[in-house]
Amino acid sequence: MYYLLTRRYFKVKTVLVIGGGVTGLKASHELAEMGYNVSLVEKQDYLGGQVAKHKYYKLAPDMRLVSEVLDPVIKNVESNSNIKVHKHSTITALSGNAPEFKVKIKNSKGESEETFGAIVVATGFEHFDPTVKQEYGYSRFKDVVTNAEVEELLNPSGPTKGELKRPSDGKIPKKVAIFQCVGSRDKQVGNPYCCRVGCVVSTKQAIEIKEKYPDTEVYVYYMDMRMFGRGWEELYGKAMEEYEVIFTRGRGAEVTLKNQQLSLRAEETIMDRPIQHSVDMIILAAGQAPGDGTIEAAKILGIKQNEYGYLAPKDDFLSPNESSKAGIFIAGADKGPLDVENCIVEGAAVAAKVASSLK
Ligand code: SF4
Repeated sequence: MYYLLTRRYFKVKTVLVIGGGVTGLKASHELAEMGYNVSLVEKQDYLGGQVAKHKYYKLAPDMRLVSEVLDPVIKNVESNSNIKVHKHSTITALSGNAPEFKVKIKNSKGESEETFGAIVVATGFEHFDPTVKQEYGYSRFKDVVTNAEVEELLNPSGPTKGELKRPSDGKIPKKVAIFQCVGSRDKQVGNPYCCRVGCVVSTKQAIEIKEKYPDTEVYVYYMDMRMFGRGWEELYGKAMEEYEVIFTRGRGAEVTLKNQQLSLRAEETIMDRPIQHSVDMIILAAGQAPGDGTIEAAKILGIKQNEYGYLAPKDDFLSPNESSKAGIFIAGADKGPLDVENCIVEGAAVAAKVASSLK
């Protein structure tokens, strides 16, 4: 009888969520609101994932402050008595099966084992490391920066208090070039897939720069503009027409530095001609890649990844939030590149799926 009661308790009441980014936060809150006891495990000592790590400032297409979205999502978790947050913690081992998974959770104080009815993996993504693309000069030339670093620079609570200062001399750049598709749609680096968000983030950042510094010229070098999301195409039109951002179809080929002057070479694909262009700052739109946390979680939990390292759903169309193992669910950017808005949608969707499976 005791066995049956405890079995039912675990089945109905306890869920482990791995990852405290927006997807994991949303999933935890939704599950807690439905009466489940949630343990949220996050390896960092803060919540919010990449959005918090890089101090993302504004969201496309509405230019809404990130804090207006992220702060309530975090608060919903931290103030909910059904959610136990384990920061600076990782999972180290799994045994058992659904609906009685035994998971070891480790932090600086040691290791403990807890039992869960279901597990949600929401380990998110990491930005592609642009040092792999040596020809773009990242880490060799100070004024070649990533889109994530620009988020931090444009944020009033960032290191430059919201000013886009060149790392080399602290001056505001007069000419900025943005290179799209860095580490995405690139078979050479093993990432042939599209990052889905680079185009809209570059367009958003180009507008933010022009709003703040109208005299600064902003050039975007793109392969294609993939503006499929809500309001994204309109934002693209606005960038060209209202802000005079110059979009050039052509992939950046190389960045050089001569006499303290950055110069880029690109292939302009409409006119089929090479371009050489001197600029003051280059922003690399570094795509998304599966993070170490995703790869580690897949290994410990024994769930399948696809050929690029992302978590593989049981069925892409019919069971997008179920992993290859019963009782373990997957959501968000650990399945493939995703924007913040859809990470939140995924968090809510996976919570509903977990709840229905534990009924
Ligand atoms: S979203 Fe845009 S920047 Fe990102 S890979 Fe696709 S086309 Fe390139």
